[in-house]
Amino acid sequence: MDSEATNKILIFGGTGYIGKYMVKASVSLGHKTYVYARPISEKTSLSKLQLHKEFQSLGVIIVQGELDEHEKLVSVIREVDVVISALAYPQVLDQFKIIDAIKVAGNIKRFLPSDFGCEEDRVRPLPPFDNFLEKKRRIRRAIEAAGIPYTFVSANCFGAYFVNFLLRPYDQPDHILVYGSGEAKAVLNYEEDIAMCTIKVANDPKMCNRVVIYRPQKNIISQLELISLWEQKTGRTFKRVHIAEEDLVKQAETLPHPENIPISILHCIFVKGEIMSFELDKNDIEASKLYSDFQFSTIDQLLDIFLSDPPRPASAAFE
Ligand code: NAP
Repeated sequence: MDSEATNKILIFGGTGYIGKYMVKASVSLGHKTYVYARPISEKTSLSKLQLHKEFQSLGVIIVQGELDEHEKLVSVIREVDVVISALAYPQVLDQFKIIDAIKVAGNIKRFLPSDFGCEEDRVRPLPPFDNFLEKKRRIRRAIEAAGIPYTFVSANCFGAYFVNFLLRPYDQPDHILVYGSGEAKAVLNYEEDIAMCTIKVANDPKMCNRVVIYRPQKNIISQLELISLWEQKTGRTFKRVHIAEEDLVKQAETLPHPENIPISILHCIFVKGEIMSFELDKNDIEASKLYSDFQFSTIDQLLDIFLSDPPRPASAAFE
């Protein structure tokens, strides 16, 4: 592979919640960066138009196209070295179209599919979330079968996203909902760090055909610990209102799809503690100590960011 800085990177879903962090991280590390985005139309939101402009001002090359434009996909893929997909949940299976184009193009040195959550081959959540993960597993198996060089990233929880969801800093609540006992351990990583680390592993020859798990020791935290830390920082006291596991399971069984997915995710992460339920072994790569010039922000630092310049909630899954 070329040296890190000369690799050209193409990002699908680059205008999305985590994708935009990845685009900015890629640019900041000096990569010529491409974004494949749906064509601008009269339906395109003002915020998306502004993001396109911001990307262009950063020198990002935006290729407008649909995922079923095979020839266009092949031609843009031929221009780059690394492909990262940060497509949203409903588009997970559309990644077969990217895989097909990568096979035809034949030049890609690394493909990172849209994982960026639980280590999907090692958790078995309730059916609504498991069916969602099963689609991601199918994509992984297709990449392996095609012999495409890959890195599979388990980024665990998007930190700002889940701080916003769990603590609701904007609402100034007097109570905080706690899923289950609140004692299960989760891992919350700040999005900027997830993006930076992802660009680094995508260019790192040692990470080829490996699963990389983002599990920094200082970001392993339970809901109750998170609430206590937030109380210390804000000087406020919050009533904890527990939602029983059986109520969550019932909702996961009765809510229609796709509303049953977020509830199953909460059950998996915060009630069962599934992302911390398996030990890392000698074949696993844990990301936090890989690069001497990069460190994950701690939860403590992330909450400080919320006190000074809070990242706004932006992704819709739990809204
Ligand atoms: P998102 O913001 O909902 O959307 C990502 C992109 O999907 C958008 O940029 C959009 O591109 C594209 N898209 C939407 N509809 C499309 C369509 N019909 N055709 C083509 N592209 C379309 O995604 P996200 O929430 O960042 O999720 C990305 C990944 O992170 C997923 O794998 C998700 O499961 C995972 N995730 C993880 C966590 C966590 O805590 N670990 C949390 C949330 C999500 P354009 O509109 O620009 O074309």
